[in-house]
Amino acid sequence: MGIKVIIAGYRGKMGSTTTSMVLADPELELVGLLDPHTQVDQYQGIPVFKQKEDFKNLQADVWVDFTKPELAFEHTLFALENGFAPVVGTTGFSNQEIDHLVALSAQKEIGGLIAPNFAIGAILLMEFAAKAAQYFPNLEIIELHHDQKKDAPSGTALKTAQVIAENRSNLEIKPSEEEELIAGARGADYQGIHIHSVRLPGLIAHQEVLFGGPGEGLTIRHDSYDRQSFMQGVNIGIKAVVKEKQLVYGLENLL
Ligand code: NAP
Repeated sequence: MGIKVIIAGYRGKMGSTTTSMVLADPELELVGLLDPHTQVDQYQGIPVFKQKEDFKNLQADVWVDFTKPELAFEHTLFALENGFAPVVGTTGFSNQEIDHLVALSAQKEIGGLIAPNFAIGAILLMEFAAKAAQYFPNLEIIELHHDQKKDAPSGTALKTAQVIAENRSNLEIKPSEEEELIAGARGADYQGIHIHSVRLPGLIAHQEVLFGGPGEGLTIRHDSYDRQSFMQGVNIGIKAVVKEKQLVYGLENLL
């Protein structure tokens, strides 16, 4: 018997790619789909529900979520409370919300994953950037996404900044006397790390970390050209969470 999977947001850009991936994997069994605006009650023989409460009596192992930032916490909480291991790509969690969900999952002994980025290349970028930051403490992040993206900065950029802040060398960074002539010109500030968000049609998900040192520069860049780039990570996540007893933040914790 395969791992029984629910997909919330199955008609969206990520949700539809995930639906195809799950249907194509004989180790996974798609048992339910969530979409509030659906006109159908079945998709390829799989029941489609309009509200999350309809899943309460469904037998399932994993709740995959690619919906909207404002639903991310509520949906993940619902999944844990109903015994589904969440695999969540939806962005928009606060640190407090993640802490709360990790504690709840540990108490219920249910695995789970919240991943700001499922692309393996993006995970490697974070690792490489954390290493580079030990030698190049002066750096800035530029994240570039399609123009439909609702939140900024991206979850990946925030996570990258967080990982870098934890690993950055203690080299003294001189306070700057710069002045923004237009508010926001220097981007968002996460513990002294500037993050710039670009939104343009045609893009999918891209990120650069630019490091500058005396007389040299280093740029690390990752590009997701297609949503297929996330599917290997989602697949790994689904298969890993059913063996875990606590939710983790970041796919790197399950690789
Ligand atoms: P999208 O195309 O807008 O898809 C979101 C889907 O959720 C839509 O089909 C939407 O339906 C549906 N939805 C709205 N309310 C819902 C509800 N109450 N219950 C269930 N479904 C609901 O967005 P996307 O590009 O797929 O991205 C979805 C999320 O994943 C975003 O937060 C995005 O930042 C994130 N993301 C994460 C990764 C990663 O690697 N972690 C990669 C890409 C994207 P309607 O359109 O009918 O409202």
